[in-house]
Amino acid sequence: MQDYQMYIDGAWCGADSGETFASKNPYTGQDWARIPKAGTTDVDRAVQAAQRAFTTGDWPRWTASARGAALVRLAGLITDNSDFLAKTEVRDNGKLLAEMSNQCRYMANWYAYYGGLADKVEGSVPPIDKPGVVNMVTHEPLGVCALITPWNSPLLLLAWKLAPALAAGNTVVIKPSEFTSASTLELMHFVEQADIPPGVVNVITGFGAEAGMPLVTHPLVRKIAFTGGEAAGRAINEAAARDFKKVTLELGGKSPNIVFDDADLDAAVPGAISGIFAASGQTCIAGSRLLLQDGIYDSFVERLTEMAGAAVLGDPMDPATNISPVATQAQHQKILSYIDIAKAEGANCILGGRAAQPEGAGGYFVEPTIFTDVRNDMRIAQEEVFGPVLSILRFADEDEAVHIANDSAYGLAAGVWTNNLSRALRMSRRLQAGTVWVNTYRSTSYTTPFGGTKNSGLGRENGLEAIKEYLQPKSVWLAEPTVVANPFIRR
Ligand code: NAD
Repeated sequence: MQDYQMYIDGAWCGADSGETFASKNPYTGQDWARIPKAGTTDVDRAVQAAQRAFTTGDWPRWTASARGAALVRLAGLITDNSDFLAKTEVRDNGKLLAEMSNQCRYMANWYAYYGGLADKVEGSVPPIDKPGVVNMVTHEPLGVCALITPWNSPLLLLAWKLAPALAAGNTVVIKPSEFTSASTLELMHFVEQADIPPGVVNVITGFGAEAGMPLVTHPLVRKIAFTGGEAAGRAINEAAARDFKKVTLELGGKSPNIVFDDADLDAAVPGAISGIFAASGQTCIAGSRLLLQDGIYDSFVERLTEMAGAAVLGDPMDPATNISPVATQAQHQKILSYIDIAKAEGANCILGGRAAQPEGAGGYFVEPTIFTDVRNDMRIAQEEVFGPVLSILRFADEDEAVHIANDSAYGLAAGVWTNNLSRALRMSRRLQAGTVWVNTYRSTSYTTPFGGTKNSGLGRENGLEAIKEYLQPKSVWLAEPTVVANPFIRR
């Protein structure tokens, strides 16, 4: 067992209560790390440290260029240590090392990008229709931001929040998922080495109710950036609204991946696989509803089933493994119960549909599972499973594809596979989703906005505009002193 400590005000510490909880390795099913269990007093300590750092520490005196340089230093440290960070994540969330290594290397780009952006946020001088007056608009940081992350991609989803928050001049308190705290705590060593002042970045570890909600409702927290499930997102949004706090919420999805008759099937079949079976389906952007046009339906299903059926389940550290365990026992049970629901609803299970246990493993595996004969009003087509479970639906033409795709409470992402450019453009306009991929799936970048419509969330992360989610405009009026004739009447 490895012992971890929290990071508050530039120092390593346990919870005030002395309590800890265990983090499990999803591949072995065994406890591997002891994590401090924060409560309200720890939350308050971390927020007070962040507030001090925001108001009286060195940080508010740093220029935007100096903040940017610190983020670029952090990017370099992450690049140099990406393998170590990736292995830590794999022990905690069970995802493939090959994927997490790529992800941790790529993640450095967020710190470099927002580091570069820090001193390029310009204000404006709007023309004012009053004589002798100049008005300037500046963009100021908000204060203490709470960054709350889930277990599926802990460090990447943190980078989407932490990099713009710091570039904008805020201070932060991070609460990682109780299932994957270790990598965020390890990252703090590199935050220290990047010479980011104490108190600017703090991490508390613990559970949603005992640590997450007290952080959200703390009076000194001005903004919450959250990625996770819909239920927690709704609770956070409601609590934040009471105190008029800003929020960005990246919630779930039930994303349609739509294949037309004219698509290049050599690309679309692996595209459908990576949409749902990569990361064992544990991504908010999973293409969990596969919509196939009549003409290719049978041949597509055959090729897809063959490829998914050949996937190797096993140790996430082994490069030969295609499908690793899901992250938690609760998630494992949830996925299996959705498989039962789909069967009871009359969907036809043509692949998988059971728990699996590869030799040597002790953890939470689910076979890659495919359902056909799915109707869009079934729960398996409407609710997020967050596992390797694919629903296949059939459509006749564009209108029907759009109708099925948009008939969802969610609107995070959508995929379209076609060689017809006009159709690609029409579909990208008509689909209700924050991201539309044409002839690709699952791409994200630091340069382009990401976020959802409808129940998939609020606000956008990534890209130039996302830094505004961590800034507020201030209007400053500068006037030549003038004696007004009648001070009781506004000019
Ligand atoms: P969750 O939403 O329960 O937790 C995410 C984070 O929020 C964790 O750090 C958790 O401790 C915290 N949290 C939970 N309740 C909170 C509350 N009331 N106040 C403040 N913080 C709170 O997600 P999870 O347990 O990691 O997974 C549950 C479901 O969420 C999954 O089954 C999946 O459907 C979905 N999910 C979505 C994403 C995504 O990227 N959109 C990622 C992970 C999970």
